[in-house]
Amino acid sequence: MGLKAVTSGIVVANDSTKPRSKTEKTGSKPPPPAANTLPDVDVFQSRSVPNIFAQVPVGDLYRKTNDAALLRFLDEAIAYAHLAPLSSLDDAKLAIYTKSLPKVELHQHLDGSIDPETLIEFARQRGIDLPADTIETLSRPAQKANGRSTLKDFFERFRSAQVVWKDRDAIKTLTVHVIEKAAHDNVKHLELQFSPVGMAECHGLDLEDVVKGVIDGVAAATEQFAIGVRLIVTISRRRSVALGWEVEKLAAKYKDRGVVALGLASDEKAYPADEFAPMFQAAEKDGLGRAPHSGEDGPATNVATAIKKLKANRIGHGIRVIFDPEGLELVRTEDIPLEICPSSNILTGAAESWAKHPFRVLLDAGVRVTINTDDPGLFGVTLSDEMALAAKHFDLSCKELRTIISNSVDAAFLEGRDKQKLRLQVLTGISEANRALVDNLTLRELLLLAVGGMRREGMPMDQQRKFVEDFMSYLEAAAEGNAAAKEDAATLLA
Ligand SMILES: [Zn+2]
Repeated sequence: MGLKAVTSGIVVANDSTKPRSKTEKTGSKPPPPAANTLPDVDVFQSRSVPNIFAQVPVGDLYRKTNDAALLRFLDEAIAYAHLAPLSSLDDAKLAIYTKSLPKVELHQHLDGSIDPETLIEFARQRGIDLPADTIETLSRPAQKANGRSTLKDFFERFRSAQVVWKDRDAIKTLTVHVIEKAAHDNVKHLELQFSPVGMAECHGLDLEDVVKGVIDGVAAATEQFAIGVRLIVTISRRRSVALGWEVEKLAAKYKDRGVVALGLASDEKAYPADEFAPMFQAAEKDGLGRAPHSGEDGPATNVATAIKKLKANRIGHGIRVIFDPEGLELVRTEDIPLEICPSSNILTGAAESWAKHPFRVLLDAGVRVTINTDDPGLFGVTLSDEMALAAKHFDLSCKELRTIISNSVDAAFLEGRDKQKLRLQVLTGISEANRALVDNLTLRELLLLAVGGMRREGMPMDQQRKFVEDFMSYLEAAAEGNAAAKEDAATLLA
């Protein structure tokens, strides 16, 4: 089938099935045509995508034509589109795309994953008393009136939420809920971390019962949902060294039941990591991974300390390493992944603003960066949201998102066949998502992305302009059915 047959078939079908709009009936001015004019930028030379092509999805054109010239134009545009910053894409399409990406979550706190409404409703159902000030703390927006929250304010909310961990069954039920939400967000592998001491505190639970409750929840959830889950048992810096040792021993004891690593959380400014170093050295001997929080809002040198003294093989946040040349060199040479949680960093004030967040600098410096949610319930985000926000604010391309998700696969505490299976599943799914993204673009959207990709790659302006010029001339000729001009346009590219 030739190009003309394809496009005219689609356009006729659309026109004949479309109901007449009210404006047409009343005879008033019809709404303006879909914006197919390309932006007023030199490279586009005030050209427009011909009307006949304006609304045809790229996927339809690609599949239904056998016109070699058109396929060449599309292939080149698609290749460049994958290299383009996704910020030119509209929000709805970007959201669909990041949702469709198979994802890996490496930094998510179980005890920060339940949204306030669910938490309050769950407490009501289970007869758990929620004091008025707890409800007030949980319900107020994450950002304070002055537009900035602090990590200290956030810890207060976090502690308020701990009241729901009433017994082993409550822990199991809420763990299932959290995993279900991640599975619905197309997360394929989740490393969920939790602090047994924090969760046990409110109702005086046994630390081991907390661990068992979470493991029960993981077992029940992974039977129902297509997601792999591993656990990181976390020490709280605010607690005693003796409690830290108890947590390390529990992590080691449940290593064969899904616990893969030891974490370290809470206020790094007030509680330095040094005194917890022996627990992390023991974790290494016990065959556990080490993923302490460091360099979130504390001293930049904390990252180097975590790597050298705590034997960290992954860093929670780590964004302040950008201010410590030695630490930065260490994460690069030792290939230590950073579990970056952009929204969390903005909402807690760990990063001053999206514009000043060091994600892009770290990515360009060759650091193995990953994107995570931290506390999706308290911050009101999903991992898909985080990917979309990161793409928009850090000018990420499809190719870069693929690298970032691959980084997460590489950094996951999985071994052998489990990791190979995840890698295959994720990379196959990303290719499908990339294809679906392009298939649903209009030609105008594809061209905007393609030119963005050409710029990113440093293609000279005259070459960008020539590509657009040739493509548009070809489309115009095809639209007019002018066979001779169509031949000319095709010959230009041959
Ligand atoms: Zn965290």
